[in-house]
Amino acid sequence: LEAQLRQSQKMEAIGRLAGGVAHDFNNLLTIISGNVHLIQHLPPGDPEFPQLLDDVRDAAERAAALTRQLLTFSRKQPTRPEVIDLNEVVTGLVSMLRRLIGSGIVIRTPLAPGPVRVRADRGQLEQVLMNLAVNAKDAMPDGGTLTVGTAELAGPPRTARLTIADTGIGMTDEVKRHLFEPFFTTKDVGKGTGLGLATVYGIVQQAGGTVEVESAPGAGAAFTIRLPWCEATPKSSLLMPSPVLFTRS
Ligand code: ADP
Repeated sequence: LEAQLRQSQKMEAIGRLAGGVAHDFNNLLTIISGNVHLIQHLPPGDPEFPQLLDDVRDAAERAAALTRQLLTFSRKQPTRPEVIDLNEVVTGLVSMLRRLIGSGIVIRTPLAPGPVRVRADRGQLEQVLMNLAVNAKDAMPDGGTLTVGTAELAGPPRTARLTIADTGIGMTDEVKRHLFEPFFTTKDVGKGTGLGLATVYGIVQQAGGTVEVESAPGAGAAFTIRLPWCEATPKSSLLMPSPVLFTRS
């Protein structure tokens, strides 16, 4: 019975979520079809053309991010935890982040010298990075620096740290208090859903970690994610007779 109740509460939450998302999604579709209509009626070589196209791409990307978030929330995407190196995740995502962030923002990636291993779902970690990067972009309309860094904290307990910091507009204490709540947003309709950080929070918590923010108005924002360290164990070790075979050199 308890499981049923939990399930129905979850369904209700997803229903509410879907309602809000459908609204935002619709706004984005309106931008896309409106701009396409305009583009179709532009005289050849009109100088407005590139900007209109940019807006279409922007809206389409936001719509894609929205559906991804909804999928994470409704857990339609199965969680597949594996041992991964945070450095690899960051390096693999940098060129995508560059495209997402656009010009005018410098991206720095100070990474720990060795692998930073955690046990988590790769796709979900990538989403965490993307959500934080999109927020950083929105916070730096006049450009700035985005820093994505990793570190190993010796502990105990030994911990992996991922930092995403920007030099943007920052936020008030009031915003900081509500930041991770679903649907909390200070952005215009169609721009913000208020789901980005709620998703980040959910993913990090599920992976056994914590997320903190440090920010003040005009002073940028720094998000720090801490995840339990995970030693790499060769998968085949379960089948092997002796652990001596895996002594590290
Ligand atoms: P959304 O981005 O759709 O508004 P989020 O949950 O990602 O939803 O963020 C909630 C709010 O937190 C944002 O509307 C913004 O006010 C604030 N915020 C998040 N990241 C930053 C940042 N890097 N700098 C300043 N404010 C931020």
